[in-house]
Amino acid sequence: MSDYNSLRFNRRGILKSFGAVLAGSLLDRTAPAEPAVKNVNLHSSPSTLKITDLRYAVIVKPGPSPCVLIRIDTNQGVYGLGEVRDIAGPNYAMVLKNRILGENPLNIDFLFEKIAQFGGGARQAGGVCAIEMALWDIAGKVYNCPVYQMLGGKWRDTIRIYADTTESMDPKEYGQRAKERKEMGLTWIKMDLGIDTLKNIPNTVMQPAGLSNWELRNQPHPFIATEVTDKGIDRLCEYVAAVRDAIGYDMPLSMDHLGHIGVNSAIRLGKAYEKFNLEWMEDVIPWYYTDLWKQITDASPTPTITGEDIYQFTDFETLCKNHAVDKIHPDLATSGGILQTHKIGNMAFRYGVPMAMHFAGTPVCCMANVHCAAATRNFLALENHSLDVPFWQDLVTGIEKPIINRGFIKVPDTPGLGITLNDDELKRHLKPGTGYFEPTPMWNEKQSWDDALFS
Ligand SMILES: [Mg+2]
Repeated sequence: MSDYNSLRFNRRGILKSFGAVLAGSLLDRTAPAEPAVKNVNLHSSPSTLKITDLRYAVIVKPGPSPCVLIRIDTNQGVYGLGEVRDIAGPNYAMVLKNRILGENPLNIDFLFEKIAQFGGGARQAGGVCAIEMALWDIAGKVYNCPVYQMLGGKWRDTIRIYADTTESMDPKEYGQRAKERKEMGLTWIKMDLGIDTLKNIPNTVMQPAGLSNWELRNQPHPFIATEVTDKGIDRLCEYVAAVRDAIGYDMPLSMDHLGHIGVNSAIRLGKAYEKFNLEWMEDVIPWYYTDLWKQITDASPTPTITGEDIYQFTDFETLCKNHAVDKIHPDLATSGGILQTHKIGNMAFRYGVPMAMHFAGTPVCCMANVHCAAATRNFLALENHSLDVPFWQDLVTGIEKPIINRGFIKVPDTPGLGITLNDDELKRHLKPGTGYFEPTPMWNEKQSWDDALFS
């Protein structure tokens, strides 16, 4: 661990500044009420800080996109950056603007509780979480402190990254792509492998003909009567064997996007994959079927994981305390932001459940994840979907580059999230027809009387 904090909180310095304050107050009875604490940004007076504006910019990039960046401005020039969950619109954040205008941004827990009722599952929580991140960024800048420190300090100095690769219909080629990830320095790899791979191979998937696209995408898995056959399982195993042959059995390999299959197929795949020692299989059914998850987890020797679409702390708690899954993977831009995700991790630790973190956005949300991961004991690894996006790390400055170095991100010691926007680069990737943090007065007024949930 660096000696940054020991330097910052040097005991002699604190005593000296305390003595100066004491002497000053004896000499000057009109001294300001705000105590002159040494590590507080003197450009900011915390007790009179107020939110004055909320603006956004919509960024497009290869992979999950668009990504909405938000900026909360204050009456003292300090601002905070946040990001709405990938592939969600700016309105999720903007509808909250009138609820935070005029408030002190340092009252993070109060403001979170004030807006939390307007969040929901998956992308619907994007606005609440973006604002929560930005409030931490402001607090860190005001108190000259990195976000991880305000959560209780670091468990680790670097954050392990895991990533998948593009899929290939050729198992050997798929293995080669995974190997290239390993050669980039990654210490943990994920592969997407589902029944879509079997599409043109007869007798591999049992499914009623003529299902609509809506049924295939929006009906929960148990309701589309889709199962994998033995032939299908054998073919899927060829892909996993090829990837394992390419990267070896020494490093964690996770699996996602198995397709919308029934509980029995999930169990049979979990058994078939046992010999490949997978770290987990992910989101095999919707997260809210706790009892079905428990059936799969109890019967499958391959560990299970879910969480990237869960908003409420209590839903994570239900899964953990019932051991319905082996691991959880919240997306911080859905799971309530930095503090809630830290609390979810601490809760899961008590039940012996490890936490990976799902993430697919820009470096702004990435750094919110990094601070949370640094401060949360049961953290395993953080996802990244932009290893092949050349400009991804150029979207921000003020942080050590490359941001991802041989599969790890160094936890920054700079105040707040520890990043500044690279305006020129971001403007090159704006969603066509949208502006760059333009005024948003149309969101200043409350649109409906919906704060009170009881009378
Ligand atoms: Mg996933």
